[in-house]
Amino acid sequence: MSKDYLKVINDLMELKFFNKKNSEFFVFSFLNEKQKYEEIFSKNLERLKKLKFCSKCNLISDLEKCDNCNLKSEEIYIFEDFSDYYSLASKIENVEKSFILNIYKKTDYLDKNKLNDLILKIEGLINENKITKKIIFMISPSFESQILKEILRKKLNKKIIFNEIPLGIPLNSKIKYYDANLLKELIEKNE
Ligand SMILES: [Zn+2]
Repeated sequence: MSKDYLKVINDLMELKFFNKKNSEFFVFSFLNEKQKYEEIFSKNLERLKKLKFCSKCNLISDLEKCDNCNLKSEEIYIFEDFSDYYSLASKIENVEKSFILNIYKKTDYLDKNKLNDLILKIEGLINENKITKKIIFMISPSFESQILKEILRKKLNKKIIFNEIPLGIPLNSKIKYYDANLLKELIEKNE
């Protein structure tokens, strides 16, 4: 096996979202379309560097005031991670303001600092968007995520309605594989 190949795979695996399998697949795809990859990377590296996570809602933005935070909306959708957001948000009618928890493993919910930070950010988003009436948790039911919901429920204005995916969906399921509108229907029935 080529030493360089092994070195590339090892380096890629230092990145959070790369494991051995997708690192190998990445190298395979790169070799298949070498020229195109080089073009795309060199064209987009500067653009990528300019993007960042919005400090208020955690969505990706390159603007001083991000589009999502600027929306006036009575509802705020909360997603656990980016893959849920990208799989579901575009399919649900009228998803307006969103917040991404950026949680990729359930034990993150038990990290006190992370939890406090998330709660402060969600509170901030609600305080800025004074017309918020409803928070919709597009999060798979889990004991860990329940902690966040309970703390928020105690902290926030009692007039804000909390909507969540009912326990009919199994604990810890990957909700991105569910039909987005079915989930919405279940949430509304659960109200
Ligand atoms: Zn934002």
